[in-house]
Amino acid sequence: AQERYTSIREKPAETLCGTHITLKMNAGLMADLPSLENSGAEGVGLFRTELQFLIRSHMPKRAELSALYGRVMDAAKGRRVVFRTLDIGSDKVLPYMKATDEPNPAMGWRAVRVALEKPGVMRMQLQALIRGAQGRPLSVMFPFVAQHAEFRAARAEMDKALDRERILGHPLPAEIEVGAMLETPSLAFAPDAFYEEVDFLSVGGNDLKQFFFAADRENERVRRRYDTLDMSYLNFLEGIVYRCATLGTRLSFCGEDAGRPIEAACLTALGFRTLSMRPASIGPVKSLLRRTNLGELRDILHEERARGTQSLRPAAMDYLRSKL
Ligand code: PEP
Ligand code: MG
Repeated sequence: AQERYTSIREKPAETLCGTHITLKMNAGLMADLPSLENSGAEGVGLFRTELQFLIRSHMPKRAELSALYGRVMDAAKGRRVVFRTLDIGSDKVLPYMKATDEPNPAMGWRAVRVALEKPGVMRMQLQALIRGAQGRPLSVMFPFVAQHAEFRAARAEMDKALDRERILGHPLPAEIEVGAMLETPSLAFAPDAFYEEVDFLSVGGNDLKQFFFAADRENERVRRRYDTLDMSYLNFLEGIVYRCATLGTRLSFCGEDAGRPIEAACLTALGFRTLSMRPASIGPVKSLLRRTNLGELRDILHEERARGTQSLRPAAMDYLRSKL
């Protein structure tokens, strides 16, 4: 099926109305790196660093990690790689760390919550990232941030790590950007100062959607119950796009929905201009975006919203089908 898309691999992801959409890939394993060459990705929008911790039977050493991060940046050849710091807890339990028994791990002691209370591993990881960059620009993103204060605390750890490396005489990244995943609804309502302080935000739709609808993403009985194109969710996402646009915050979307062509087209109609997805989705998404007129799709969104339609999907599908 991938061959079908090779003809557009070098072509830009440009809509019929001439808007460029930046398509990046999600990654986490060394096996993903060849896709940087053959998917047409413009960078790595989400590098899930916990995968490197999950595939080992022991805690990786700092030197091992910095070599690995360096190889990822080598493979990206100057394109940005957004490294997400460890997102453990919840469904991802490290075999060599004491598991905590929690009634609701997905909304429990996970990700940046663990990192801020037990900062040892995060400090080691931040150092490994700085060393791996070897003076190149570095992008780091903190997962599951739920409030401004958590982001500030995480960013302070990054500043401390930079200070330490400077004192030790290691080269510092030429440029550093520190962002957050927007995957808890609370961040959509965070103060303006938060939006002004982050270097970028990336919507983690997998988690954001489960918390928006209060529907467990791991629970077969409810996980497909609510449509991503449900108007309430689209209204919510549009609010985030609007805040980012007015406050000057760079925004992307990196949940699985970014890799589903119809969802991707609707996300761009809402105003998202950067989508990050599994490499195999880039061809199909690009192919549909190149036939989409965002203005027309927006008109349909507004009409359906005015009519009180539950989900944009039927109307979006009718429109997008007519473009095939
Ligand atoms: C998300 O929540 O959408 C996301 C990209 O992170 P993960 O799927 O790893 O939780
Ligand atoms: Mg997530």
